[in-house]
Amino acid sequence: MIEKAEKKHELSKQELVVLLQSDAGEAELAAAADRVRSTYIGEAVHLRGLIEFSNICRQNCMYCGLRRDNKQIERYRLSEMEIIDFARKAKGYGYKTVVMQSGEDSYFSVEIMTRIVREIKKLDLAITLSIGEKSYEEYKAYREAGADRYLLRIETTDKDLYEKMDPGMSFANRIRCLKNLKSLGYEVGTGCLIGLPGQTIASLADDLLFFKAIDADMVGIGPFIPNSDTPLWGSKGGTFAMSRRFVALLRLLLPDANIPATTAMETLNPNARIIVLQSGANVVMPNVTEGEYRRKYALYPGKICVADTPAQCRSCMGGKIAQIGRHVSSDKGFRRKRVVF
Ligand code: SAH
Ligand code: SF4
Repeated sequence: MIEKAEKKHELSKQELVVLLQSDAGEAELAAAADRVRSTYIGEAVHLRGLIEFSNICRQNCMYCGLRRDNKQIERYRLSEMEIIDFARKAKGYGYKTVVMQSGEDSYFSVEIMTRIVREIKKLDLAITLSIGEKSYEEYKAYREAGADRYLLRIETTDKDLYEKMDPGMSFANRIRCLKNLKSLGYEVGTGCLIGLPGQTIASLADDLLFFKAIDADMVGIGPFIPNSDTPLWGSKGGTFAMSRRFVALLRLLLPDANIPATTAMETLNPNARIIVLQSGANVVMPNVTEGEYRRKYALYPGKICVADTPAQCRSCMGGKIAQIGRHVSSDKGFRRKRVVF
């Protein structure tokens, strides 16, 4: 099955279930994904500087520490000046892309957001927005202001589970948002959580097939890590091993997509990002948010590097990437569609 997938980049749902649930072929699976990554993408690793600019959220996702009903969290919102300043500093550390992420914070109107995007574009940075569900018109306005990419995880393709996990939100609207983003010419990033309560292996296989079917430009996945400030505290959560297998399968199915080794994985295994970079991934998103804000942007507990500075994160990742014989990319890291015969 792994050999077939390495050549054809296709697997059936049944095959995906078998490969996801067994750890028997884990090393072979990771090695095959690493070869596909090397053939299609090469040895460059794209670094995206993550700016967590507000932890205020109108949504109430069951798994997330930023959910509106969480009264324990200290809320913050960066000013326009601070956001632009963090982007400028990111550029100074050598980043070519910034990812601007927040809760669904209504303070950031279209007018404010487009002003920020236009200012950051003047720095010649690629911009990824990750600010949740918006109308077509809003997405259009951000795109026209210069946003290049948008990251909106589907979280799970199991409609019933999605609507249980994200009360007040609809699966149909999430899909509509992804379609709108694609039609507006964004590079579309999506992804899912691994290990949500009630999520099955068959459902994870469906997630993989969904990412392939929509030809996602970027797929970021993370283990669900239970948060004591949420109703899902006490549930089991996802594992590093399953997340790694999922990334390897993603690479086999989507050979030229951008696939990050995510921070949540590193919370479960101190060497996760390097292991996952060698199991199919080609992107890392180091944090460029400064000071107390890092700690306060608490989607899940045990977030790594909360006491580090952006400069430390940049040099730490650069060192780790060099140690595995890879290098930090010097371009903006748009997806390059490749056909390899
Ligand atoms: N509000 C935006 C972006 C911020 S949330 C949005 O929801 O799209 C970014 C991601 O954090 C979510 O997509 C979710 O997959 C992840 N996340 C939230 N809570 C988490 C948890 N407890 N464990 C792991 N990842 C989590
Ligand atoms: Fe808000 Fe995003 Fe967290 Fe949901 S996942 S509560 S939308 S920050």
